[in-house]
Amino acid sequence: MTHWRSDRLDQLPPYLFVEIDRHKRAAIEAGRDVIDFGIGDPDQPTAPFIIDRVRETIGDADNHRYASSVGTLELRTAFAEFCGERSHGTDGNETCPNLDPNSEVIVLLGAKEGIGHLPLALLNPGDTVLVPDPGYPVYVSGTVLAGGRCHAMPLRESTCWLPDFDEIPSDVARNARLMWLNYPNNPTTAMASLAFFETALEFAREYDLLIAQDAAYSEVYFDEPPASILQVDGAKEHAIEFHSLSKTFNMTGWRVAFAVGNADALAALATVKSNLDSGVFLPLQHAGIEALRGASKPEIRNQIAKYRTRRDILINGLRSAGWSINAPDATIYVWAKCPPGVKSMTLSTRILAEADVVVVPGVGFGRYGEGFVRFALTVDDERTQEAVDRIAKLSL
Ligand SMILES: *Cc1c(COP(=O)(O)O)cnc(C)c1O
Repeated sequence: MTHWRSDRLDQLPPYLFVEIDRHKRAAIEAGRDVIDFGIGDPDQPTAPFIIDRVRETIGDADNHRYASSVGTLELRTAFAEFCGERSHGTDGNETCPNLDPNSEVIVLLGAKEGIGHLPLALLNPGDTVLVPDPGYPVYVSGTVLAGGRCHAMPLRESTCWLPDFDEIPSDVARNARLMWLNYPNNPTTAMASLAFFETALEFAREYDLLIAQDAAYSEVYFDEPPASILQVDGAKEHAIEFHSLSKTFNMTGWRVAFAVGNADALAALATVKSNLDSGVFLPLQHAGIEALRGASKPEIRNQIAKYRTRRDILINGLRSAGWSINAPDATIYVWAKCPPGVKSMTLSTRILAEADVVVVPGVGFGRYGEGFVRFALTVDDERTQEAVDRIAKLSL
């Protein structure tokens, strides 16, 4: 351990993918033909109409200056309009509540940035944060870096990967300031109903905590659009929601995302941000507006439809090979059960060693992820089929 390193960094959860990463690199260096379902990073390019907007705006000197750390009013307004127009539910009538772009929307340098910084904005030392397990690792690391304590909420297949609030001891709940939710869920692909969000908000009111619902996959769905927690009456008192252009528009590298909902919590997050960053480069904010206004264009819906085709190739192939898999209704992942008694790390190591295919062990997302592996649907149809054929030949 180096002298130049805080104790806090040593409390960050260990990076469990190190081993898989090392094996993957070794396989590639050895010239093997590796098919990588590892990272949730879309392989398709950003749509040309979005890129064109950068070309149109990048020469303007006004766009070369510091941006505001909470984003331009124009981009915040475009997001509020996008939320307002987006219809939910089978009847198509329910929509997100109106968001005030002045106080209820802020722009982030990616959802990860906002998720990582939120605990710094909300917690006092020793406050507890309720975190789903398995879950996106930044919920834990942001809490640790802010000096907070995490309490895991187990997600289990038997309860459709939703947390059971009755399991949270009341003394833990009383000390909690913040609860993370993430639906559609990474890594389990589960969706949450409006009724579930209502229950979660009752819990938040009882213990006076804020719910931060990570909706990074809100637009990546195959049938019914996912519910928004902000559809629940009075949700804005106790909830904020994180959104991102990354997965919806194949824009992971661009770093444009949003936090919306409770104005006081957003103001606190904005205070942290104004001390640490100076916002998204303005041509990219212009491109973000273009993306949001073009969200219903066929080219965007077609990009998302590709995940459905890949999903079907993968799950049909693996099911024929004896795997047990539920078809996901949203996200860019497939969450597949390991054969009985096989650990997720053992399975992913074997699949890499014997089929040159990279999948992520569920245990990397938390101990309740054990028994599953995650495939990211970021590989084209032909290569996905090739991977299925290779895996089907293994005797697992
Ligand atoms: C990809 C992802 C994010 C990060 O999105 P960015 O806007 O690219 O930072 C946040 N949450 C979850 C669950 C994700 O999978």
